[in-house]
Amino acid sequence: MVLMATLEILKYPNPILKKKTRLVVKIDPAVLQLVQDMAETMYAAPGVGLAAPQVGCPLRLAVVDVTPADQPKNLVVLINPEVVATEGECSGEEGCLSIPEYTEEVKRKKRIVVRYQDLQGEKREIVGDDNLLSIALQHEIDHLDGILFIDRISMLKRSLFKRRLKKESKEEKNS
Ligand SMILES: [Zn+2]
Repeated sequence: MVLMATLEILKYPNPILKKKTRLVVKIDPAVLQLVQDMAETMYAAPGVGLAAPQVGCPLRLAVVDVTPADQPKNLVVLINPEVVATEGECSGEEGCLSIPEYTEEVKRKKRIVVRYQDLQGEKREIVGDDNLLSIALQHEIDHLDGILFIDRISMLKRSLFKRRLKKESKEEKNS
């Protein structure tokens, strides 16, 4: 029996979210457990992707599943993912489990090829060429480099976002 648990998702501006992660050198039981728990946490949120730093682990590891809720799950576990090729441009509305209740249009590559290891340590490649998968892959790999989607929006939008955040936290303290 495998015990699964949902993990706490760290919220912006937690400094762990800004750190670059280290490579997974050994896929040991602790890593397998982390993957299980991250998948559980992502599905429960619900979200289409979750990166290890978002649950407080500075490892180069993420889970993605962009299948609609009414279809069978298709979990992709990305261990040590690297972008090896990109093509074209697109943009779409993005959100992040670490930045609740905020979405914004982000410019991304249209097509992306990612090399990674699976749970057996085998080298694999995944191609994102529809918007959703392509954007999810880029969003999660960004997390592993300490980059959040708000780092990719205009300075004006970012300062408006930060002002709103400050106001919200003030209101929380006062209530
Ligand atoms: Zn995110």
